Amino acid sequence: MKRVYFTSFGCQMNVLDSELVLGDFKRTGYQQTDDMRLADIVLINTCSIRELAEEKVWSLLGRARLIKQERPALKIGVMGCMAQRVKEELIRRAPHVDLVLGTSNFRSAVQDLEDIESGGGRVVRVAKRPDPEFLPDADRNVAARPDAFRAFVTIVRGCNHSCSYCIVPHTRGGEVSRPQAEVWAEVERLVADGVREVTFLGQNINTYGQDLHPQRLHTGAICDLLEAASGIEGLDRIRFLTSNPFDMTEDMMRRFGSIPKVMPWLHIPAQAGNDALLARMQRTYTVDEYRTVVGWARKHIPGVEITSDFIVGFSGETEEEFEGTKALVREIGFMQTYVFKYSLRPMTISARRMPDDVPEDVKKSRNVELLAVQDEAALTRNRGLVGRRLEILIEGISKSDDRRVTGRDMNNRLVHCEGDAAMAGRMAIVEITDVAAHSLIGKRVALESEVGSWSYRGYGGGAASACGAETVSA
Ligand code: SF4
Repeated sequence: MKRVYFTSFGCQMNVLDSELVLGDFKRTGYQQTDDMRLADIVLINTCSIRELAEEKVWSLLGRARLIKQERPALKIGVMGCMAQRVKEELIRRAPHVDLVLGTSNFRSAVQDLEDIESGGGRVVRVAKRPDPEFLPDADRNVAARPDAFRAFVTIVRGCNHSCSYCIVPHTRGGEVSRPQAEVWAEVERLVADGVREVTFLGQNINTYGQDLHPQRLHTGAICDLLEAASGIEGLDRIRFLTSNPFDMTEDMMRRFGSIPKVMPWLHIPAQAGNDALLARMQRTYTVDEYRTVVGWARKHIPGVEITSDFIVGFSGETEEEFEGTKALVREIGFMQTYVFKYSLRPMTISARRMPDDVPEDVKKSRNVELLAVQDEAALTRNRGLVGRRLEILIEGISKSDDRRVTGRDMNNRLVHCEGDAAMAGRMAIVEITDVAAHSLIGKRVALESEVGSWSYRGYGGGAASACGAETVSA
């Protein structure tokens, strides 16, 4: 049996793309190995959002080259955003790489490697339009997913925006939505195989479907999709990301809040809390407009919690602008935020027009400072949950304590409680007894299989305010 070593960097969409490709390898009889030295194929799914992610890939390719020197039959492939962005450099600097697959053409990996093995040479597929024979989301091997009860499903790929710091429109191209019927069919197959929760993915979920129905601009095709998916029997929870502040309407929020299976959690990246900084980032909204979107969410989605992304140290960021960002984090009360140091990416608007002039040590200290503001606020909020009862979907045994199980509540908080592996995949009610900034601990009050019918829908977050987790770039 042949072995594939597969490693992945980047966002949730990359996690899913890796799962799709691994599913193809498994379907063809390959076994996955964690040891590169034992592999017949080394495949790396790459990310270009930050320089560091690309440096790690060059370093991995260096390790793979040494193994290939001893074992020339080893085949090496690179896929994803970096493969798309630096294809020529990859070909020049890494002649030991056999396969280069861009962001639209990774599903041919198995076929390409077999062709290389039989005929030799190198395959490079980086066209922005996918080969119709190998569409990115076609014919998913649902049994290959890493999580038995939860799954990601991509509904729109690419982005039509031009945030000045972002490489995604360059690496992934413009928005391409999947037809609703195709998404529906995939969710039905996942649910038939045991999935209870799906998370729909897109760089900008708000504009899902606009390329399919251009005449329906801003009417919320995403809401139509969510309403249709909520009719699938056996599917209990629906999430989606990323909900950018732009392209969002109050009516969309109203519709999100009216679908019981849609969980009260939104990931709304703010990126900064100062208008001049947002303008340089070309985010096309002001801080006030961001507040308005959050206000719609809290008005229409009972018990909603909000998570966000922030960039610190962007070009020209002054102390005063950074103070604005800290103030926004305190004001909104996010459940969680992801903070990134600005990393200048070649080919972006900011790389062409703005200097990367905030010193690295300042970026670092602002990163630490903003996370500290967030953690303090999150801990205070979480303390308010002690004694509350939350519904969780149990994922399995806790990684840190095998006497406990881990699950996510409706707001997507991580919750630990006593339990065993047999409880995986069931809903439970947990009373919170202890909290940290990023997780909660509770005692089990009820387990789904122990009661006649399950209808608990209490929102732990309560008080229509607050905070979240996970991101697809944006
Ligand atoms: S940050 Fe998000 S919305 Fe902006 S260009 Fe990048 S992917 Fe698109």
